Order: sequence, then C-alpha cells, then structure tokens
Amino acid sequence: MPDPAPDTVQSRLASVLARVEAREAQSGRAPGSARLIAVSKTFGVDEIRPVIAAGQRRFGENRVQEAQAKWPLLREMTDDIELHLIGPLQSNKAKEAVALFDAIHTVDRDKIAGALADEIAKQGRKPQLFVQVNTGLEPQKAGIAPREAAEFVERCRTVHGLAIGGLMCIPPAGEAAGPHFALLAKMAAEIGVSELSMGMSGDFETAIAFGATHVRVGGAIFGSRPPIASTMPEEPTAG
Ligand SMILES: *Cc1c(COP(=O)(O)O)cnc(C)c1O
Repeated sequence: MPDPAPDTVQSRLASVLARVEAREAQSGRAPGSARLIAVSKTFGVDEIRPVIAAGQRRFGENRVQEAQAKWPLLREMTDDIELHLIGPLQSNKAKEAVALFDAIHTVDRDKIAGALADEIAKQGRKPQLFVQVNTGLEPQKAGIAPREAAEFVERCRTVHGLAIGGLMCIPPAGEAAGPHFALLAKMAAEIGVSELSMGMSGDFETAIAFGATHVRVGGAIFGSRPPIASTMPEEPTAG
C-alpha cells in the first residue's frame, strides 16, 4: 500500500499506529490492547518534541542518565508522559530509575529486585515492573534464563514484595522472532502475569499476533539511529 504522506516523524508514527491497529484487528484483539512505546534513545529533545506534539505519550529509553538529561524538560510539554526503561539497570541507579520511570522492563536479578524494592518503599512511587527473559540464552544479553524465570518472579513477590506485571524479551538477531514470542507468552500464562513487552521495528506485528501488550518501536518512528549508538555497549552491568 503506497503511503502518499511525506516521510516525516509524524507520518512514520501514524503509519506504525495504523499497522498496530491493523494487526490487533487481524489477531482478533481489542483496539488499544497492544500499546506502542516510542523508543527515543539517542534522539534529542528537538526530535522527540514533534512526536509528543503528534499525540504520542508513551516513550522508551535504554539509559537512565540519558533519560534524566532529556525528560524533565520534555515533561514540561505535557503532564501525561509515560516513560519506560527498556535497557539494563545497575543497582546503583535504582534510585534515579524509580524517580524517573513509570515502567521498568529489565528486572532480571535479585540485586536489582532488592534495590528497586528499597527505592519503591522510600519514594512511594510504583513503576510497573517486567522481568526480562533471555529467551535465546545469549551469553552477552541481559535477562534471566527461561527455566529460572518462574522462581525469580516468585522471589520478587515473596522476598522483595514487588508486584511483577509482566515479562519482556529481545529475541536473538537473525532468528525468527515468533518462537521467542510464543515462549514468552506461554511463560507469562504459566507464571500468571498479564503484560508482554515484545516486538521492535522489525517484528512488532508478529509480536502482536503472539499477544504483545507493549511493543517497543524506535527506528520505524524516529528513523535510523547512528550506527555507533546501536552497537555501543550498554551501561556496565556489574552490580
Ligand atoms: C532500541 C531498542 C528497541 C527499539 O528498536 P528498533 O529496532 O529501533 O525498533 C526496542 N527494545 C529495546 C530493548 C531496545 O534497546
């Protein structure tokens, strides 16, 4: 279907939203049941402003410090921004993360769970929490192994008193994503959590077909990121 609209960030956002809606309908899902997170990492406030102006309210960032530098300013535009942390979290950044984010998708070990629990108690803020699962068992990738996930979610609940709302995964690059999305959906059903954070620019429609409640889309909205940014290591995960 040719898109007659000019290639702007607004037209790309509209096109992604239309694709989300179409796939919800095709999959027999309720409109709005797959929520779009616009991933604005590496983009500056001037590039993000038009997306907020176009009506998008849910955004994702992968670094605490970068988000701290951008979002207090952007939140002055409107008070209903929902900010999601989708990158690895160090326990020494838990304080800043709980203060800034409305959702954290990358809970994957006991130390992080404990640090978040402390900050949630101190600050009285309750970000929605997802446990990241390393569905491809990739050594370089964050996330808990699938066979340990149920026990970890249970520990988050009983030991740390954390309400875990869902699971998140990033399938291995170059593999069909469908089986990973299917595995995550099956695990969420077994564990008894309702939210599924899965699907990026290249595979969000597949993710919606497998039940994604949150899709994390960057490039298809903002355009391609500088190659250096996408290959840069995440914040060190020590701690
Ligand atoms: C960057 C990123 C995305 C968005 O990726 P695109 O391919 O640009 O859509 C989604 N999820 C995570 C965890 C990311 O780091």
